[in-house]
Amino acid sequence: MTATTPSYEARTKSLKDFDPEVFTLIQKETERQEYGLEMIPSENFVSEAVLQAMGSTLTNKYAEGQPGKRYYGGCHVVDEVENLASARICELFGADFANVQPHSGVQANQAVFEAFLKPGDTFMGLRLDQGGHLSHGSPVNFSGMHYKVVAYGVRESDGLIDPDQVRSLAKEHRPKLIIAGASAYSRQIDWKLFREVADEIGAVFMADIAHYAGLVAGGAYESPIPYADLVTTTTHKTLRGPRSGMVMGKEQHRKAINKAVFPGLQGGPHMHTIAAKAVMAKEALTPDFKVYAAAVVANARALADALMKRGLNIVSGGTDSHLLLVDLRPIGVTGKVGEETLDRVGVTVNKNTVPFDPQPPSVCSGVRLGTPALTTRGMGIAEMDQVAQFIYDALTNVGNEAKLKSIESDVKELSKKFPLYKHRLVK
Ligand SMILES: *Cc1c(COP(=O)(O)O)cnc(C)c1O
Repeated sequence: MTATTPSYEARTKSLKDFDPEVFTLIQKETERQEYGLEMIPSENFVSEAVLQAMGSTLTNKYAEGQPGKRYYGGCHVVDEVENLASARICELFGADFANVQPHSGVQANQAVFEAFLKPGDTFMGLRLDQGGHLSHGSPVNFSGMHYKVVAYGVRESDGLIDPDQVRSLAKEHRPKLIIAGASAYSRQIDWKLFREVADEIGAVFMADIAHYAGLVAGGAYESPIPYADLVTTTTHKTLRGPRSGMVMGKEQHRKAINKAVFPGLQGGPHMHTIAAKAVMAKEALTPDFKVYAAAVVANARALADALMKRGLNIVSGGTDSHLLLVDLRPIGVTGKVGEETLDRVGVTVNKNTVPFDPQPPSVCSGVRLGTPALTTRGMGIAEMDQVAQFIYDALTNVGNEAKLKSIESDVKELSKKFPLYKHRLVK
């Protein structure tokens, strides 16, 4: 046998043996996840089955095109994988079609822009500093650079999306596309309102459920599927799948979306990630996932109550979802200091603007908290009260090193009671 490079022995070495440097970093990150409290609402922990699908040989396959109509040979197996993923997603959400190829949430949104707008056209989305997303019109994102943005907002009185403003802005500017959906809005979005307004001006209505998808799938948050022309989402947030995106919608838009994703925006789909999306959908179709979705919302409500009980202010007075926006002004701490202090004790959150925030975005007056990841670990109402106490104690002891050290050890203690990937940590 002739020698080949790399040799079979070299190619089949484990990561640990071949690259201890990267292996150790992965171990360190697994340990950080295992022994901390992950409260960023857009994060979650995937199952071992999803991890295995992502780390599979499907990463080797090029499959540009649609199942049955590919530009490469050898696609008969991955065709089955993609068909399975799409069919399960359609069953889960009750959608006419699902394009599971977008690499992320922003790519899914971009596909809708490509399919329905021309550069310079007008669209409408929620203001970024009041809960919207980068891809809904930020001036540094493609959406704000290539299209004309009309932004609606929330009411100062109650923190809720202002339906009168949505309607009057739509009538005045006549956008071709109306986007509903958010990254930091905790309440139920009135999908029907957006459908009605879109119909009044002949616009396309896109719902971006990147944050709420898992709750929608589990029946804990109202679905926009009956109302929206297109529904975009990430798959790695409440849906608990691989880091990725997808577009669902009404049958008449299938062709336009498929064309916009490929060849419009992307080359080869990531077949290993699509396999993981199929696994994610199988999990989300189980009765257990309904229990999970309901628990995520119940935990978020319990956490909001527990924080309010301790004198903190929650934007809109509570939540209908997995997230809450905490206004830290009553305790005289900025979002930036809040994020750093909580990080110090092993509670991971992100600073966030509150509506009508007097602070610049680099400082912010609030933090955004979410319960999807803690709920995946099995935590419930009792733990939410404990977590609220940790958060309150840390935020009212900024700079008190001894106190923060003791909270850090309590956080670790609690996390140890709810093992995550302990089996993946090499002792
Ligand atoms: C997270 C998010 C996205 C983007 O997801 P990426 O996968 O990071 O590109 C899009 N829209 C909304 C509303 C989001 O919250």
